[in-house]
Amino acid sequence: MSLLSRLRRRRPPIPDGLWIKCQNCGEIIYSKTLIEGDKLCPKCHYHYLLSARERIALLIDDGTFEEHDGAMTPCDPLKFVDTGSYSDKQKNARKKSGELEAAVTGTGTMDGVRVALGVMDFSYMGGSMGSVVGEKLTRLIERAAEQRLPVIVVSASGGVRMHEAIIGLMQMAKTSAALYRLKEARVPYISVLTNPTTGGTTASFAMLGDVIIAEPKSLIGFAGPRVIKQTIRQDLPEGFQTAEFLLEKGTIDLVVPRPEMKATIVRLLRHLGCS
Ligand SMILES: [Zn+2]
Repeated sequence: MSLLSRLRRRRPPIPDGLWIKCQNCGEIIYSKTLIEGDKLCPKCHYHYLLSARERIALLIDDGTFEEHDGAMTPCDPLKFVDTGSYSDKQKNARKKSGELEAAVTGTGTMDGVRVALGVMDFSYMGGSMGSVVGEKLTRLIERAAEQRLPVIVVSASGGVRMHEAIIGLMQMAKTSAALYRLKEARVPYISVLTNPTTGGTTASFAMLGDVIIAEPKSLIGFAGPRVIKQTIRQDLPEGFQTAEFLLEKGTIDLVVPRPEMKATIVRLLRHLGCS
């Protein structure tokens, strides 16, 4: 063994949490640059997951966010158990995310424009949509229709929460119906898709935006590639569930990097007559 490799071996390991390896490009990143910035890899600009609160801080003017329905929590009518009980999973999710549910909703201003904002938190049970996520978003949309406030929903979700079965699935229809009423009231809705936006979330409110924006390289789809391949028995095009592919096919309207997201949304809102 050479001296260099012996010295390398004696070097203490990188402490957890101080440096991390970029999960996209492998670059070693000083974690503080991720914590204090927009959570982008400085080398490849990979967009790391943001919590709901981080997303709100990024989009909403300081001190203007007023949360709605923050205390709403789900019940467990099916007494669902898979690898553990649903209620235990909720407790763990609360501890992990610091949130009471997978969506945070409220109102605030963006560069002075008043908006109704809903943000999903992927760290709470994969941002899954159960009764509370559906109800919070529906109330957000209904209040926004009454007050004529533009709605923005930032999705990060694995889809409908299976632990609530049909009650979870019903949220797709409920949120979609609320958005139809918002459309009838001629109030704009901007949907922001982040990595990942899949399942019943994609099949309902996430794809119903008057304008649909995605963060670069986000995974966006309904079912996973394996399921689709088995169903249609065809090879799938490379990268077919990425934001860029969907933009090329016209499914979404814009791919916007995180540092430009707020300014882009504000510009759109002003174009749409919001002030
Ligand atoms: Zn990277």
